[in-house]
Amino acid sequence: MEVLFACLVGVVGLFVGSFLNVCIYRLPLKEEVVKTPSHCPECGENLKWYHLVPLFSWIFLGGKCAFCKSKISAQYPLVELLNGVLWALIFWRYSFIVSGVFSFYGLISYILLSVVVSTLIIVSFIDAKTLHIPNSLNLIIFICAILLLVLKTYFATSIGVIYTNVAALIFIGGAFFAIASLVENGMGGGDVKLIAACSLLMGISHTLLAIIIGFFIASVVGITRIIINKSNRKTLIPLGPYISFGVIVSLLYGNIIINYYLSLFV
Ligand SMILES: [Zn+2]
Repeated sequence: MEVLFACLVGVVGLFVGSFLNVCIYRLPLKEEVVKTPSHCPECGENLKWYHLVPLFSWIFLGGKCAFCKSKISAQYPLVELLNGVLWALIFWRYSFIVSGVFSFYGLISYILLSVVVSTLIIVSFIDAKTLHIPNSLNLIIFICAILLLVLKTYFATSIGVIYTNVAALIFIGGAFFAIASLVENGMGGGDVKLIAACSLLMGISHTLLAIIIGFFIASVVGITRIIINKSNRKTLIPLGPYISFGVIVSLLYGNIIINYYLSLFV
């Protein structure tokens, strides 16, 4: 039953992944994302529904436009697959069916978390390309975080979570705001807002874990690029993808990692 549902939400995630591709392509160009029909960026030809089946259309068309045969980036199927897999994993971790019983609270939480994860995918790809995170995306994560806190307080009647998560927002968000203001060319405002939104979402321990994972990988990648001479010390690296990766790992496996870490001291 659980496996069936995980597959089902995974398939929904694949289709949502197609929409994420549209956002990744159009948001930096300030184009409208909903009403304009999907079209080939090269020849402008509107795509038919059978050109829009996630993963399969790309494979069947051999990674080329059906009309002008220009190459379609592997990023399209990759984003679809990534979103599908993550939606299934999020379901596995935050199932809305607890021992065979459907939970409305669980479903709403699941949807909000899936929206956060999909937004993080858009953030990663746009930041990697443009070194800029659109405010609208950080705002979506903020709103989801607030709604989740309200839900938790109302349904799980845990008032404490509001205080701890707001404290996380003030301390972690404040610390990174200070770092970004003091260190020139260190971090962008978009990165700080992203970290602030995620601290309201996850609380102190999970956010710190996400930041440690993200910055560790970012520095390994940064140093490797300097060693192989692909960049020098002054090259800016987009932090959005690394922070997003840390946040997703923390959302999925944070409890396991933090409990394991704490068990080392007992
Ligand atoms: Zn075309």
